[in-house]
Amino acid sequence: MAAWDSLITVQIFYTDQFVLPLPDGHRFPMEKYAMLRARVAAANLSGGEPLRVPERANDQEILLAHDAAYLQRVVSGTLAASEIRRIGFPWTAQMVERSRRSSGTTIETCRSALDEGVAVSLAGGTHHAFRDHGAGYCVFNDAAIAALVMQFEDRARRVLIVDCDVHQGDGTAAIFSDDPSVFTFSIHAGKNFPFRKGESDLDVALADSTGDELYLSLLEDGISHSFSASQPDLVIYLAGADPFEGDRLGRLSLSKRGLARRDQMLFSMCGDLGVPVAVVMAGGYAHHIEDTVDIHFNTVRAAASLRK
Ligand SMILES: [Zn+2]
Repeated sequence: MAAWDSLITVQIFYTDQFVLPLPDGHRFPMEKYAMLRARVAAANLSGGEPLRVPERANDQEILLAHDAAYLQRVVSGTLAASEIRRIGFPWTAQMVERSRRSSGTTIETCRSALDEGVAVSLAGGTHHAFRDHGAGYCVFNDAAIAALVMQFEDRARRVLIVDCDVHQGDGTAAIFSDDPSVFTFSIHAGKNFPFRKGESDLDVALADSTGDELYLSLLEDGISHSFSASQPDLVIYLAGADPFEGDRLGRLSLSKRGLARRDQMLFSMCGDLGVPVAVVMAGGYAHHIEDTVDIHFNTVRAAASLRK
């Protein structure tokens, strides 16, 4: 429990100033990131530490998880129209910058978590990005890149990705399908996007309208199983806000209180075993954007309150 016994800082990283331009009426709630940072700053959740802006992920880091030809098409703006449609964002240089920054944020969050015990990114969770293509608002797979960078830098050997976004982490599952050193656990709505599911090391597919109690009991079993199967040096936690009952794309029926209990459960299980945890935000598409921001804020606050 070394890392957690001495936990005195919880670094919080952000990247919301790198905005990718979206056409009017686009349903991705890009503004949630700046709203979240404002709330985190106002509540001084970083305990006097400045919120931090990481470097962008460089080519060498991205290529640990992605195909060189795909990276080249993204960077040079030569993605096919069908590839751009699948991602769901128009191609712009700012999109490339934002995607690099978002992955850089998760890399830095993992480094800090390994040093301190817990760290938080106010971005990240782009789990529908595959080795050679993007999808579902995801260009690069930040958790996959960061896990592989931690291994490359010899900071962690075994990594567990706990994906609580309501959509299955299909890109992450595919990237690590042949890699026993990274265990992928996804708990998601079974009938939701992506309609053709990948195969994680552990998948829990939930029925529509699953509520707090059943969700939390299946999550607890899933985390226990994942820990014993993977013996991780690091957990990357995708704390999606989209299992919320008021989410437009969710299909589940978790309350804000249930989502807060979810976060507590994950943190206390990591803390009991002394495993560092890097927290990233992932999706959230509530009818009222304030609800998404509230849920993410509660996650950050729970992480920050682990400071000794
Ligand atoms: Zn999602």
